Amino acid sequence: MNSISRRNFLKISGATIAVSAALSSSVLKSSDRLVNKESGIRKVPTFCDICFWKCGAIAHVRDGKLWKIEGNPDDPLSKGRLCPRGTGGIGAHYDPDRLKSPLIRKKERGAEKWVAVTWDEAFDYIAEKMNKIKKEYGPEAMALFSHGIGGNFFKHLIKAYGSPNITAPSFAQCRGPRDVGFRLTFGEDVSSPERTDIKNSQCLVLIGSHLGENMHNSQVQEFAEAVEKGASIIVVDPRFSIAAGKAKYYLPIKPGTDTALLLAWMNVIVSEKLYDKEYIDKYGFGFEQFAAEIAQYTPEWAYPRTSISPELIRITAREMARYKPATLVHPGRHVTWYGDDAQRSRAIALLNALLGTWGRKGGFYTPVSMDLPSYPYPPYPESIKGKVDNPGNKYPFAHETITTGIREATLSGKPYPVKGWFVYATNLLHALPNEEETIKAIQNLDLMVVIDVIPSEITGWADVVLPESVYLERHDDLNVEWFREPFIALRQPVIESPNNQKPGWWMAKKIADKTGLGQYFPWKNIEEYMETRLSAGGYSFSELKTKGMIKGEKQPVYFDEGVPAEFPTPSGKIEFYSLQLLEAGFDAVPKFAMPEEVPAGSFRLLYGRAPVHSFGRTQSNPILMDMMDENEVWINNDIAVRYGLKSGDYVRLKNSEGVISNKVKVKATERIRTDCVYMVHGFGHNSRMLKRAYMKGASDSQLITKYKTDPLMGGTAMNVNFVTIETGV
Ligand code: SF4
Repeated sequence: MNSISRRNFLKISGATIAVSAALSSSVLKSSDRLVNKESGIRKVPTFCDICFWKCGAIAHVRDGKLWKIEGNPDDPLSKGRLCPRGTGGIGAHYDPDRLKSPLIRKKERGAEKWVAVTWDEAFDYIAEKMNKIKKEYGPEAMALFSHGIGGNFFKHLIKAYGSPNITAPSFAQCRGPRDVGFRLTFGEDVSSPERTDIKNSQCLVLIGSHLGENMHNSQVQEFAEAVEKGASIIVVDPRFSIAAGKAKYYLPIKPGTDTALLLAWMNVIVSEKLYDKEYIDKYGFGFEQFAAEIAQYTPEWAYPRTSISPELIRITAREMARYKPATLVHPGRHVTWYGDDAQRSRAIALLNALLGTWGRKGGFYTPVSMDLPSYPYPPYPESIKGKVDNPGNKYPFAHETITTGIREATLSGKPYPVKGWFVYATNLLHALPNEEETIKAIQNLDLMVVIDVIPSEITGWADVVLPESVYLERHDDLNVEWFREPFIALRQPVIESPNNQKPGWWMAKKIADKTGLGQYFPWKNIEEYMETRLSAGGYSFSELKTKGMIKGEKQPVYFDEGVPAEFPTPSGKIEFYSLQLLEAGFDAVPKFAMPEEVPAGSFRLLYGRAPVHSFGRTQSNPILMDMMDENEVWINNDIAVRYGLKSGDYVRLKNSEGVISNKVKVKATERIRTDCVYMVHGFGHNSRMLKRAYMKGASDSQLITKYKTDPLMGGTAMNVNFVTIETGV
């Protein structure tokens, strides 16, 4: 990247950081060859785990101590640069709040009182409970909540045990509605990393997506590249985000009305015949019916709903059409907002379809991957009862397991009881809406095991806590990514764990041995597992260890380059009009319903991300907390004045059900509408085990007691809570 785009990247991503720290370590044999004999610095390629993006990194060890971490220039995801969180990743190794030893609960759940035990004692306890649960309730009574690639061996364990109840908040609390909306339209979802061709976009539309604050490294780098090349940026957001600062058009929409805007944009594009006719003639299904429905949604219709003027709606629709098919209406990622999220995402998919962007340069490319055989395990036992989360197929388009469905079954015992939870690297009390329901469900369990590197609120409710080595100290499963170019990436240990922490693969194997499932973990260690898979695929493990990745041949990624234009929908085409939705009792073309009005004196609570933190998982990292140690509540200036508040004052927020937040610092700003307030998610921890983060800032999760369930796929919409501002703190 040249100096201009690098500057842009830094402006968008926030400052990089310098780091230094100290702790002893031993040199790991596999990477001895990477020692620079002159400087004594050992460089080990691996991939980052401060978020789920899996950026290729090179860790530096100096004088036996973990010194710094940089991007791996060969890695297609990081392209040699980590985001600020990734750079601060070494703080995870030095974090004094880390879990250090296996723990068994000694008082009531939630009291955070533990006895430190040996690994063997912890595994014996778990195995005895698991065997009892299987005997009394069947294997389906065990569930796994997991986040990130580190959970792969626990998924394998739970499948081997006989349960299909494996889930992640990334579906029902995050990207699920988007993937359902796109599947219904194109037959395929957007996947992760998103198949968005941002760097080649000439017009980029961001709807509530605050790229740059929401720090998905490759996307932010591509955003900087697009900005540098002069792409026209259109941002729709009730808050003037960092991305809005780069926009040609900023639309400060009334929260909850995005679908109305999308319908009006499509109305303009259809009525002015600005769509890609050739593309639609070739690939579209039901365009005439779609066009007839869309005719009613004029910009004048949308204006009183969205507060966006008809003129601005027309100008921006024409701007998108001007650059088609190199216009990307970004599908977003965390899209569980108002309860109509799958249909809103479908409207985004339809707008992209009108512009002919799917499969096209500057729109959505077709991701490619390496061909790597799976490990030849014995077949998993078949589940008799099936999954517990979606009884009667209530949410007919849920193609992944619904976390809150498992929570509901744990609470009600229906359609059958769930008695054991494994929770891997996800703080369910911050990830799922309505903490109280989660706590009530936990009280019905016979076993809850939390596996993590740091304590969190969910850890406090566990029966057994298993401390995992951080990513710089362990192997995880091979990453066979679906991206622009095919590659396999390796996470490998850089340094030893400082205490009695162990890698997840080792724990899963040990639990399998103790529960009579040893045949599912026949390999001696993870290196043997990797060697088996890699040699079966014809790849060199030693090359992978040295480089951190093996890349495949470049492949075509656009229709114009020869990628077959295939749409695995029922019609085999892009479904402008969806008969499968109609048959299931839903609208074939999205409709719009006004969201609940904000009560007088209240504000809609909105939340988002910061570039230096990942969810609620980094608030004990000393480096990242140095950069941002509490969140702020954004309040419009006029409102602040009315309440006699200025930036830096503290308030509490109270939701409509009487829940009161920790105190939180005010950011009085013109950059947010008057009908909402905003805060960064992940702060306001109340676990005393998190000494550095305890009671710093406020928790949006605590205030999200209400949620609306998406009728198509069971996602939980969380932007439906209202708060009042309590001053005099
Ligand atoms: S986006 Fe940042 S935190 Fe996430 S994997 Fe990449 S470098 Fe790490």
